Amino acid sequence: MTTGVLARDHGITSAAAVLRTVLAHGPLARDAIAELTGISPAGISRQCASLADLGLLVTRPAARPPDRRAGRPRTELDIAADRHVVFGVHIAHHFATLAALDLRGRVLASEQVPHPGGEPERILVGTAARLREFRQHHQKGRVPVGLGVASGGWVDPDAGVLVEHSSLGWYDVPAGPILAELSGLPTRVDGHARALASAEAMFGAARGGGSLVHLFVGNVVDAAIVSGGRLYRGPGSAAGTVAHLPLGSPGTRCACGRSGCFEADAAEWAVTARAGRASIAEAVEAAG
Ligand SMILES: [Zn+2]
Repeated sequence: MTTGVLARDHGITSAAAVLRTVLAHGPLARDAIAELTGISPAGISRQCASLADLGLLVTRPAARPPDRRAGRPRTELDIAADRHVVFGVHIAHHFATLAALDLRGRVLASEQVPHPGGEPERILVGTAARLREFRQHHQKGRVPVGLGVASGGWVDPDAGVLVEHSSLGWYDVPAGPILAELSGLPTRVDGHARALASAEAMFGAARGGGSLVHLFVGNVVDAAIVSGGRLYRGPGSAAGTVAHLPLGSPGTRCACGRSGCFEADAAEWAVTARAGRASIAEAVEAAG
């Protein structure tokens, strides 16, 4: 992607622009990073030095032959993937998943923690306790960068609040502040569809400025949009909350209290229930 562009269009810092560029295209020489980010060569040298000091970038000899004009061997910068660890928590219907990842998004370890549903605070406190044990086993001397938390439903990442997850029965749950306090880690919360789309934008299908629409259909139904590498959040961070659009059968009741919602027709539990009813009807007909 062309960029001064990266920093300017995405409203991100020069340091973040350098990291994203190396993540998408690295290993890269400094002049290539300057070209891709639109940051001056002097600025790139400063950013690369401070990111290397933080242990986020590593300098390696280039795989290509030495640059004879420069009179010294070329070096390239890459993400230092083995020094830091990022932790993740995904809150699903019947369990939470804990994960440890490196800075290239590779999963180092993961574990499922069953929960009985119900009271959000009790589930978050239980999950944080398991996360402490999980860190003891899987941090392995790496420096923790932070904790990413994802769940279905409508999530406000700025406030760290799960605004509405009607099938779990959670409303206005400050999951971010609670888990930040219990874990002691900088914590970022988002909807799972947006978290997946962000991961595709950084590490996968939309890497390097691509676009995608992601539709998740499981126990909840959510969507996310990435355009030109940028995640669209919309007013109130409500973009992608398609669960309760009136696209379902008018008579079908939804957990939100209304009828005819998309999720009440399309979610896994709804399809399973319909299949169950159809088999019972068939069995009764065959018996009769
Ligand atoms: Zn609904």
